[in-house]
Amino acid sequence: MIRIGLGYDSHRLEEGLPLILGGITIPHTKGFVAHSDGDALAHAITDAILGAAALGNIGQRFPDTDPQYQGADSLELLAQTLRLLNEAGYTLVNIDSNIIAQQPKLNPHIQAMRTRLSEVIGLPIDAISIKAKTNEHVGPEGREEAISTQAIVLIQSHA
Ligand code: MG
Repeated sequence: MIRIGLGYDSHRLEEGLPLILGGITIPHTKGFVAHSDGDALAHAITDAILGAAALGNIGQRFPDTDPQYQGADSLELLAQTLRLLNEAGYTLVNIDSNIIAQQPKLNPHIQAMRTRLSEVIGLPIDAISIKAKTNEHVGPEGREEAISTQAIVLIQSHA
């Protein structure tokens, strides 16, 4: 049996904070205002995996009111989510994702993000797609107030 899951995230940007996407720290003047490390790509992928197996959402699994998730490494939360997925009887097949950011230009960093995610998730790089988009200077992403992410995943049952 196969199932799909959809994830979305959006984080506000502020001057002088680190910008982490797909586990990679990206040089930029702004970064994410967040309780965890703010990795909005990891969060969208995590929510897509949870959604595919109907295991709830990232806020339920890793509440931002819980001090243990203060400054959390989002890739560690993603790894925990994969263990939940496997316990529920499913394997992750592939990921496709979008990052909507006016600045910085992300294409030079896509390969590093795919490699880092591949290491954490245990999927081949060709099963992990990341596409960077600008928002044509429109909306919060286009005004560089926020960066948003979308992810979709396919899972299949072990049996
Ligand atoms: Mg988030």
